[in-house]
Amino acid sequence: MRVGIGHDTHRLVEGRPLILGGVRIDFDRGLAGHSDADIVLHAVADALLGAAALGDIGELFPDTDPQHEGLDSGKLLAEVVSRVASAGWRAVNCDLVIHAQRPKLLAHKPAIRANVARLLGLPEDAVNVKAKTGEHVGPIGRSEAMSCEAIVLVTRA
Ligand code: MG
Repeated sequence: MRVGIGHDTHRLVEGRPLILGGVRIDFDRGLAGHSDADIVLHAVADALLGAAALGDIGELFPDTDPQHEGLDSGKLLAEVVSRVASAGWRAVNCDLVIHAQRPKLLAHKPAIRANVARLLGLPEDAVNVKAKTGEHVGPIGRSEAMSCEAIVLVTRA
């Protein structure tokens, strides 16, 4: 077995949809980025790549490539799952922490969990979603950005 860690941060801006874990969340701002800026799926993808020692999503999906503009991060994660499978690994479980001052994510956790589980090909009880505020300090606490950390365990497929 092997373990991998992933992290992502994006700025919060007006005029963008907020998408976390592939789930569209009603909010007055969204995350800025070349793709759909889904910090959850980016962190999970990097954790998976890390576990398989396959680099990071910046290498696989350069943000200089116009092909990736507005990219659905679900497709990105599906591609990562496929590459990791080709390298002989499959996910065992995933734990993640979303850092966001607002909105309250409690009601959205089940949908995020279900979608991450679906994308990783895991049962829902192998995925855990945690949410933390920024205690009103720093860029997270001032609602200038959101972050996500993910950890994924893999085993030989
Ligand atoms: Mg990102």
